[in-house]
Amino acid sequence: MKQTPSPVMNSAISPDISSVVSPAKSSADIDAQTQVNFITYLQRLLVEGEFTATYKFALLHALADICIERPLHSDVNANLHDALDSVITIDELVVKFIELYWQHSLPYNGVADEAFVLLQNSGSQSALVQDLAAMRRQGIRTIGQLKQSQHWKSLLTKTRNTFKQGPLWRLQLLAGKEECFYYPHDKSQKHIVLNPGIAFCFRRFYDLVVSLARNHWTQKVSAFPANFAVLGGKGDLSQFLFGSDRNSIISARPLLTEIQQGKCFYCNKPLKNDGNNAAEVDHFIPWARYPNDLGHNFVLAHRSCNNAKRDHLAAQRHKERWYEQNIINNAAQITSELSQYFICDSSRSEAITAWAYQLALQGDSPLWVAGREFETIKVAVRLS
Ligand SMILES: [Zn+2]
Repeated sequence: MKQTPSPVMNSAISPDISSVVSPAKSSADIDAQTQVNFITYLQRLLVEGEFTATYKFALLHALADICIERPLHSDVNANLHDALDSVITIDELVVKFIELYWQHSLPYNGVADEAFVLLQNSGSQSALVQDLAAMRRQGIRTIGQLKQSQHWKSLLTKTRNTFKQGPLWRLQLLAGKEECFYYPHDKSQKHIVLNPGIAFCFRRFYDLVVSLARNHWTQKVSAFPANFAVLGGKGDLSQFLFGSDRNSIISARPLLTEIQQGKCFYCNKPLKNDGNNAAEVDHFIPWARYPNDLGHNFVLAHRSCNNAKRDHLAAQRHKERWYEQNIINNAAQITSELSQYFICDSSRSEAITAWAYQLALQGDSPLWVAGREFETIKVAVRLS
């Protein structure tokens, strides 16, 4: 990992990147052997673990998500940071679990005459997916509506029980034997405590963990014989299971048009109705880096600006403006207008943005400015 420390102007608005600890130091604090062990264990888990259902992939995914969705502790070293992040309540995991399965409870339109909710289990359908599908039939359309509904509390209780009977204490069974690399099995607690270095590694290797979990999950769903009839090679299963919800995304457009006064977030020129000047809702932290729709992560941009940005992180000045627009000035309005469609939690969005720029800093990734122009991310110097 090359690092080129150089001074940078401290931003008055955005607190994260300018106050982040030196990345060279923070990655050195969790030793290389722990990081290699983390990858090795992940490989073994996927090969040696038993997966009769998809629950364990969801748990792996949930652990990784939770580790990056927490705020950065900017003034502590990596070991202390890791310790602060190591306690995860079972309810945090259960909520994340429901969020992950929500999209899977939609009927899939494959080759069969009727749409069908894909099985997530080698036997009968998983209880959680059945419950979620039942709630959809009662007219609940989004995860936001589900959380506000009268069913939410009982769903949590039921899912918590399933979760403790199933995946939580089974994920770390390799070839039938407990190997508790991520967290000890202490069944008397309402939380788990990640072993030293694990939270750090989930943050460091987030995209690797999540893409492996999603791949194996998709393969598993395709491999259940009961799903063969509907899948039939038609459509893109991973897009269905894990894609961004295009229909919902359009619903963010009116609010963003109002907030941005009809102008492109990136170039500040007017948005038009067609061609390259047409308005597109853009994931500010690109989907390729954090594949979840969060209400505060959307901005409105020209199609041409959006296409030029692709999967890059936007330049520092864009990040500062995102922070000002979506967190400082309009967080409450975004939550009130978009939470029926998306998860809207401004602190989660702030954490994700800080995490993504911290990784970019560690990897020395170029940041997109405009067109084909990029800037190199500068290593922040703490001024305090
Ligand atoms: Zn533009």
